[in-house]
Amino acid sequence: AAEEGFDVEEVEGAIEEAGHGPLPVLAVVGRPNVGKSTLVNRIIGRREAVVEDRPGVTRDRVTYEAEWAGRRFKVVDTGGWEQDVLGIDASVAAQAEYAIEAADACLFVVDATVGATDTDEAVVKLLRRAGKPVVLAANKVDGPSGEADAATLWSLGLGEPFPVSSLHGRGTGDLLDEVLKALPEAPEQRFGNAVGGPRRIALIGRPNVGKSSLLNKVAGEERVVVNELAGTTRDPVDELIELGGKTWKFVDTAGIRKKVHLQEGADYYASLRTAAAVEKAEVAVILIDTSDHISVQDQRIITMAVESGRAIVIAYNKWDELDEERRYYLEREIETEMQQVSWAPRVNVSAKTGRHMDKLVPAIETALAGWETRVPTGRLNAFLGELVAAHPHPIRGGKQPRILFGTQAGTKPPRFVLFASGFLEAGYRRFIERRLREEFGFEGTPIHISVRVRE
Ligand code: GDP
Ligand code: GDP
Repeated sequence: AAEEGFDVEEVEGAIEEAGHGPLPVLAVVGRPNVGKSTLVNRIIGRREAVVEDRPGVTRDRVTYEAEWAGRRFKVVDTGGWEQDVLGIDASVAAQAEYAIEAADACLFVVDATVGATDTDEAVVKLLRRAGKPVVLAANKVDGPSGEADAATLWSLGLGEPFPVSSLHGRGTGDLLDEVLKALPEAPEQRFGNAVGGPRRIALIGRPNVGKSSLLNKVAGEERVVVNELAGTTRDPVDELIELGGKTWKFVDTAGIRKKVHLQEGADYYASLRTAAAVEKAEVAVILIDTSDHISVQDQRIITMAVESGRAIVIAYNKWDELDEERRYYLEREIETEMQQVSWAPRVNVSAKTGRHMDKLVPAIETALAGWETRVPTGRLNAFLGELVAAHPHPIRGGKQPRILFGTQAGTKPPRFVLFASGFLEAGYRRFIERRLREEFGFEGTPIHISVRVRE
């Protein structure tokens, strides 16, 4: 590395930075209007996105990446929620439960100017039962005079309340230091028996694509319910199901079975549920309803799974309803609309008739194998050497950037760092990704490629 112009420390740093697996997840929970979204904006350090000024307008973005003191994590914002037909307590509880379940630690936001309400107490109960680390933010402490209000929140029994002003930024640094202490380095502890335990599958897709039908079909009678949140108000969430001679854990199946018909906030609720399921899973089986057109909502769900870096299988459901003509147009639609996951294994199934249910497990196994693939550095560099010799980067401004060497920094999903003598254009990066896939497979997995340029 040294003779190529990168020093050892630089290379090691780049590999470490690129190599992280799934990031730990922080759930931000609390009543409406306590300032969750404002605080999330502070945490992610951008003004974009979260605060929605028009009441009743729902967002479908739920998770954001954040970084503090050099550590990266994900933030699940539950601030997009509107009170619904369930009533305020039930809806706050329902959203908090989903978010808490998918999280490694929770940030509980209370409005210090109001003090602890009954709804806050209800959330405290959920937090206690979940048993995950909690940091308590006493928000809207805009000046020193509010500190006393914050102190009264000791009464919640969650330890020290951290006074903050999400609006002005006051105290948020100390709060984030505390959040980092609460978050594990890696999210594996959320998965419980992750090492050697059953693989975790999330069935996702928009409403009515056939998620619960598919679950019922594959599970038959043999389902073992795993109640990880004992005593919660909701159905148990994860189920152990035997398929193809192995036990699999289907995560968040309560969300699949239980039909909560919400008026306002229904889209947001669906997004939160999908995000939570994806966070808990290693592989996402995304269902597409072939009796309908592939929609923007399908695309969003796919994007969520890809951005989370999960292994992916696409199940085209309701195959029993396809006639010749629709099938013709479906294939055209798949070509154009499903490009972002053209690498994902595909199964054409019918949850109704049981068609091709036996193909599901092999597809899942293929995707997981791709997700865990590690390419030895020697092989990777031999490949890169040949590739660059045969297809050099186009010359720009009299210079020709070269890839000097590369390494795979991590798996789940595969992450690569390429060290180059100059900036690599997007088109060339895509070309590299395509060739990497051709050479090494990576079926069913997103891959990340970052490029370091020699100064
Ligand atoms: P959410 O429903 O919990 O996500 O709450 P929002 O983030 O939408 O905030 C609700 C209202 O409280 C908005 O009008 C915010 O501007 C206001 N707010 C949020 N944080 C603070 C704060 O630290 N101080 C003050 N004074 N107002 C705040
Ligand atoms: P979910 O909302 O994604 O869980 O979808 P459901 O499993 O509740 O299914 C929605 C509707 O589609 C129900 O009426 C199902 O009977 C129907 N359905 C599900 N899978 C199939 C299938 O493979 N073929 C047909 N024809 N209908 C299906």
